[in-house]
Amino acid sequence: MRRNIVAGNWKMNKTFEEADDLLFNIADPLKEMDLDLTQVILCPPVLYAEMFTDIALENNFSVGAQNCSNHAEGAYTGEISAAMLKSMDIEYCLVGHSERRKYFNEDSKMLAEKVDQLLENAISPIFCCGEALEEREANTHFEVVGKQLYDGLFHLTAEELDNVIIAYEPVWAIGTGKTASPEQAQEMHAFIRSLIAKKYGQDIADDTTILYGGSCNAKNAKELFALKDVDGGLIGGASLKAEDFLAIIKSF
Ligand code: PEP
Repeated sequence: MRRNIVAGNWKMNKTFEEADDLLFNIADPLKEMDLDLTQVILCPPVLYAEMFTDIALENNFSVGAQNCSNHAEGAYTGEISAAMLKSMDIEYCLVGHSERRKYFNEDSKMLAEKVDQLLENAISPIFCCGEALEEREANTHFEVVGKQLYDGLFHLTAEELDNVIIAYEPVWAIGTGKTASPEQAQEMHAFIRSLIAKKYGQDIADDTTILYGGSCNAKNAKELFALKDVDGGLIGGASLKAEDFLAIIKSF
């Protein structure tokens, strides 16, 4: 179902005490906010999940993980399965973040398996896609993003896709302070929606939530969120400062 979403990806930041502090500074004001039309998802380091899920409902947010295994269970030391996430009341999980693709060599086959694991366990994947700088400069950005979607997501049925959120994150904009221009963001979001329409039909495309990610902050969120095909943001750096993150949530 299409809706306005602001998701915070804390990445590998914050010790337990720091996370507790930041969570309090976000969750306390969130409780008082009128969020009828906006959903907030926090994706902390999964080790701290319980601290978040314990207070999520009463504080108007949902909890997401940043990663899960592509396997269901077994001898995969260090991994965490989708079933384990579900058993900790986690409702969302990032898949295909460019840092996982780059530093952990996650390929499309593995990402498609992760998506399947999550859906089998009733967790909504937040599927990240986006081109590198060289790919945009070579004018292959549509091709690259299209392939990521076909390879990682488009094996799903329409019913399954309904539980997926897509995040367009140009790699050159992540953590760099360089944001996609409103024209670049709208153009790519419209393209993504058109691919979904081609594969699944216009109604499903119109019903899919597509977030923008990449140096989205309290200053540029309003302009980005106002774009026709942008349904909110996946926020990295700015989600680590309560004041900035809350301002982004208020940007719809
Ligand atoms: C991200 O890592 O998903 C992200 C969007 O990071 P940042 O907002 O810091 O660019």
